[in-house]
Amino acid sequence: MSQAFTYLDFNATAPAKPEVIEAVRETMTAGGNPSSVHAQGRHARGLVEQARRPVAALVNSQVSGVTFTGSGTEANNLVFSGAIKANRIKRLLIAATEHESVRLSAANTGLELEIIPCGTDGLVDPDTLRVLLAKSDAPTLVSIMLANNETGLIQPIQQLAALAHQAGALFHCDAVQAAGKVSVDFDALGVDLMTLSAHKLGGPQGVGALIRRGPVDVSAQIVGGGQELGRRSGTENLPGIVGFGVAAERGLLDLAAMQGIAGWRDHLEAEIKALAPEVTFICQGMARLPNTSLIVLPGIKAETQVMTLDLAGFGISAGSACSSGKVSTSHVLTAMGFDEDISACAIRVSLGWKTSQDDVTGFLAAWKNMRSQLTKRKQEQAAEVA
Ligand code: PLP
Repeated sequence: MSQAFTYLDFNATAPAKPEVIEAVRETMTAGGNPSSVHAQGRHARGLVEQARRPVAALVNSQVSGVTFTGSGTEANNLVFSGAIKANRIKRLLIAATEHESVRLSAANTGLELEIIPCGTDGLVDPDTLRVLLAKSDAPTLVSIMLANNETGLIQPIQQLAALAHQAGALFHCDAVQAAGKVSVDFDALGVDLMTLSAHKLGGPQGVGALIRRGPVDVSAQIVGGGQELGRRSGTENLPGIVGFGVAAERGLLDLAAMQGIAGWRDHLEAEIKALAPEVTFICQGMARLPNTSLIVLPGIKAETQVMTLDLAGFGISAGSACSSGKVSTSHVLTAMGFDEDISACAIRVSLGWKTSQDDVTGFLAAWKNMRSQLTKRKQEQAAEVA
């Protein structure tokens, strides 16, 4: 990239931290297959087992409960294949605002599936969950994410997991966006299964983990050489796993700094609001990730905002961008009751470990220019039509 570029899209992926890059480089240079019995293989095995510790520590879980996967998406798929098989689950309850990897893999099971609606604030109402749980005594798995990737909203997982357990159900929590941004405590949340992804916290892309509570087993989804104690075959992504371990260790140390980022995010929102009272911020004032702002500029399409800011050297996402980069209707905002014309105008700004105050100041200036430029263009177009 020749032009200066300011990256403010950390919920899409966080740039790898320098110590992660160094660890990945060293591991790739040394090489080794953790299944080999010779000295190099034994060293590689040691690195995998060592990396499990900081990943477990990041979320306060048992080291033995960590199964490495090829992504957060794979870990979520493993829940809806391997965990439901091993625990003879017959019925699924998932929140309306879950990531596609939960929504689609749950739908693919062919099991009875009910969507747990959320309120207009985006939260799952415990009473709603209680009613859904009581509808059937079939073995049930509930899946509700800790923090939403679009809005940053944090769900009351501890309370919801307790309700699920009272009804005899298992509870899975996708904590991909929360880990490394807020303190996550697997034990205190009381969940049975949790999904993590390395690249959201400054680790490498293409490595994730499914965390399990001891007695809750998971059958393999990918079979072959029996790696990860038979739960996930395939030669381990050694550099990725080592990098995940380093990112998790660093992530825990950097948690306090992440909280400081909320101050910049709030400043950003206050400045935008002072200039443009028509703007709204989804989930503002609620418990949300410290780094995320979902900004609605009514009447101006998110794609146009994203492109204009991109040309000005700022990388952000449309609130409803899917993995292909296309902007589609946001199922999250639809579930919260927003009309299409609001959700089509939402952009997501997500800050992270590399963000500086200058980045925020620069973004504010670019946003102000963008707004005046696009608002003027819209008025001109309206005048031409009239
Ligand atoms: N879950 C949530 C909430 C996410 O935001 C994402 C990625 O955006 C995933 C799961 C998938 O993680 P990965 O990119 O590692 O496949």
